[in-house]
Parts: sequence; C-alpha cells; structure tokens
Amino acid sequence: MTSRATPKSKAKTRKASCSARGKGAGLMARLAKGAVICAEGYVFELERRGYLQAGAFVPEVILEHPEVVEQLHRDFVHAGSDVTQALTYYVHREKLRVIGREQDLEPMNRQALAIAKKVARETGTLFAGDICNTNIYDPADRKSIKDVEAIFAEQVGWAAEAGVDYIVAETYSWGAEALMALAAIRKYSKVPAVVTVSIHKEETLREGWTAIETCKRLEDAGAEVVGLNCHRGPQTMMPLLKQIRKAVKCHVAALPVPYRTTSKEPSFMSLTDPCCGNARAFPVGLDPFVCTRSEMSDFGRDAFALGIRYLGICCGAGPHHIRALAEGLGRHPPASRYSADMSRHAFFGTNKKIRKVQTDYRSRL
Ligand SMILES: [Zn+2]
Repeated sequence: MTSRATPKSKAKTRKASCSARGKGAGLMARLAKGAVICAEGYVFELERRGYLQAGAFVPEVILEHPEVVEQLHRDFVHAGSDVTQALTYYVHREKLRVIGREQDLEPMNRQALAIAKKVARETGTLFAGDICNTNIYDPADRKSIKDVEAIFAEQVGWAAEAGVDYIVAETYSWGAEALMALAAIRKYSKVPAVVTVSIHKEETLREGWTAIETCKRLEDAGAEVVGLNCHRGPQTMMPLLKQIRKAVKCHVAALPVPYRTTSKEPSFMSLTDPCCGNARAFPVGLDPFVCTRSEMSDFGRDAFALGIRYLGICCGAGPHHIRALAEGLGRHPPASRYSADMSRHAFFGTNKKIRKVQTDYRSRL
C-alpha cells in the first residue's frame, strides 16, 4: 500500500501507487479510503542537519542547497509520507524582509515548489503547496490586514501555477488569519484546502476563539480539512483533537510536534529544562524532550481510531518518527526494511546464532 519509488522503478511504482489508491487519486479520494500521512517539520530538520539558521527559520537552503531539500523530501517519502509538501513555510514577504532577501521571494517560492513537484511526481505522492502564519496580522491595524492578504495572494498564486494537488495553510495563532488564508486559497486556486491552527499555552486562539469554534468556522467557510498543527505535543494536543473530531463533519488534521509537552507546559515553546536552570528549551535545547518512536506510533494509531485521517508530525519530526507513525497505522513503508530487530543484537538477541558468551553477560550491561 505504501510502496515508493526507487530511481530504477519509477514508472512501475507510479502504476502500483495508482492501483492502490485509484488512478490519480487526489487528497479527498485518498482520505475517503483511509489515512493520509503528511510529513512536516522540514525547517527544524534542516536546522539539525546544519542547513538552516534557528531564529528567523527561513529556509534559504532552497536556493543555496536545493539538493539537500530534495533529499529530505525523499527521506520523508521513504519513511512513509503520502505527501510531498513544498518547503514554502516562512518563505513569505515578511520573513524575507526580516532577513533582507525580499528580492529572492519569487525565485525561492518557485524553486521550493519545483523541488517538491519533482519528488511528488516521481514517487506518486501528493504535491502540496504551503502557506503559513505571517507574523504581521493585527486586527487593530488595517494596513497589516492588507499586507497579509497580499502575502497569501502571491504565495497561493505561485502554488496554483505550479500545479499543486492541494494547499496547506498552517500554524495560525489567530483564527481570523486562518480564515483569510482559506479565503485566498478559494480565490486564487481551485484545489482543496487543509487549514490547521496552533494552540499555545492558552487553549484559545489569540482573539479568544476556542480551537473547536475556530475549526467550525473554517469548515463553514469551506475548508476540506481542518485541525491542529505544531506547538503542542501528542499528550496536550489529543484532548483538543477529541473535541474537534466530535464538533465538525469534515476531515480532521492532527500534526503535533514530537515533544513531551505537559499540562503545566503544554506547548513546546513553554518547555523548561531542569538540567539547564529551568531555561526555556525552545528552539535548540529541545532534545531531552523528544518523543520516542513508539510514542509517535501510539499517537497515530490513537488519532486514527478517533476518526482523524490526516496525520503528520510538525517541527522536530525526523524520518524515524514518520516511519513509526506509518507503522502505527499498520503500514510498511520502504524504510521499514530497516526497522529495529533486536533478535540479532550481540547481547540482547534471541536468535540462536548469537553467542552465549555475550548473552550470559546481559545482566551486567
Ligand atoms: Zn511546526
């Protein structure tokens, strides 16, 4: 079901993928049949790999090392992602203004879309566009609303021209900004919209709307998929997801960060590390809080059991997390070829080829 392309078997794999999911099955057809896994969190993963600077978090790597972005897309597909999402997160006018690269706005967007399209078409995965929080939305400032509209219009336009299968609008802390993103997708493209908002420490959006109310508004405004992404880990996102799933009729999306958030520190930006004087761990000290593979596998299985079909992982996700999520849904992506098998471990192995001189020493390890 989740077989993916190797360079040698592109055509064959594309055919296999089509037969498994219906010829050219788009997002809605795939959701009607089962889960759709969407790997996100490219920005954090590229930061860890040494190709992106934490702080501004703008993926300049798109122009500087396009081959690295392409390989990351391939790594996530290999691990089980059904989607190749263009890395246009934080490639908008405001972010490029902050880093002084406004002149690169259009080339960066078009290049990110071209890289994702190449991988998507070669692997039979869905090709998604992406728009996100602008960081300038201010309900009290009319000029900012106009600027947000312009940001969404140009990015949706480039995505539509690139031929995306659908567009993700993500990580909004203002419900009204998410509604503006949806309106832009409706106005400037003809493809489905997946709109997800982010919940920080407080359980409301910044204007005071609850997550449930916001998702209902998005559904009423025509979003095909609504839900939550980023900021909260599985433990503190799940209670909200249960309520959202009950409140809306459309498909629901759930893309937590893979961090052990708690009721006291429910968002990854609020996590503090007792080993570092209780300093804020975000963004580059989050390692001690990373969820295990089995936690992400459990999350995927539990969310799917609730009826949530659009599943992924946001900032902090590595390919190993996506593979675990896929395996939690009963899948066997190509990367599962290398999933752990401790039966052949030198000390803990149960295989009869393992030497007794080692297994006898197990209790002393
Ligand atoms: Zn995120």
